[in-house]
Amino acid sequence: MNISVIGAGTMGNGIAHVFAQNGYAVNLIDISEQALAKGIANITKNLDRMLTKGSITEEIKNDTLQNIKTFTSLPEGVAQAGLVVEAATENLKIKMDIFRQMDAHAPAACILSTNTSSISITEIAAVTQRPTQVIGMHFMNPVPIMKLVEIIRGYSTSDAVTETIMELSQKLGKTPTEVNDYPGFVANRILMPMINESIETLYNGVAGVSEIDTVMKLGMAHPMGPLQLADFIGLDICLSILEVMYNGFKNPKYAPCPLLVNMVKAGKLGVKSGEGFYDYSGGSKAEVVAGMFAKK
Ligand code: NAD
Repeated sequence: MNISVIGAGTMGNGIAHVFAQNGYAVNLIDISEQALAKGIANITKNLDRMLTKGSITEEIKNDTLQNIKTFTSLPEGVAQAGLVVEAATENLKIKMDIFRQMDAHAPAACILSTNTSSISITEIAAVTQRPTQVIGMHFMNPVPIMKLVEIIRGYSTSDAVTETIMELSQKLGKTPTEVNDYPGFVANRILMPMINESIETLYNGVAGVSEIDTVMKLGMAHPMGPLQLADFIGLDICLSILEVMYNGFKNPKYAPCPLLVNMVKAGKLGVKSGEGFYDYSGGSKAEVVAGMFAKK
């Protein structure tokens, strides 16, 4: 089966890597030449790391890179696809546009999947003429390392398509888990309220950043504290997922903490902007938002 991956960013290059390393021919598509070059450079860097560790051979590295072709034209990139995994920017309009184009240019039997963290699979599927063949494949970051793929069935997704995608995910060495299409699916519906409550705890002056993260790391055996994890995910992404759940359920328990809203307004987005709950500018992380101070 030929695989097309749309978007060569953080997730797209990881998804292309995993398919290519498992022997699939992958077309990696992005509107930006620069993003494609960066994506391939990142895959090469990750393969080199695996090579140094001894988990792959030089031959596997070379075969993986050879399995990936890059495209800036979506119609050309999806023309032979058996499966497309869309991993472009998290924006409903962009995704709807991409799904209309994929529907027009991919073969009739091709399955159209999306790696969205929060957008409704059912809503995306509705812009296509093949809603039974549209499904969510929610890979986790970093894709080559994380085992879970949350498989999200839209309202119209067929059993046969779900089964194909479950089996395919297993062939990639992943553990697919089937869930239904409601705001936040399962992963973010549980994770984001925990992150939001951690920010609320900080905002209320109950404890500082490192205290909150330490309680959750050492007390609950989480590998990373929730505030550090929020910085890693991106505070803008956390805010937009909470907004999807807040609007989708019309339930105040998902209302984003005002401190999170303010930090996003200030451009403090976490690791990617150099500062969030911690400061990453000096190469290592230092706490910048502290307890009661956060309320002012
Ligand atoms: P990113 O910003 O790193 O990459 C997005 C890429 O999409 C960019 O290279 C951009 O040039 C490209 N793009 C934008 N419009 C396009 C178009 N019309 N056609 C082709 N390419 C286009 O984003 P990301 O973090 O990789 O996220 C991608 C998707 O994965 C989103 O839906 C996001 O919600 C989801 N996701 C992200 C994470 C994460 O931790 N970052 C985890 C799970 C799921």
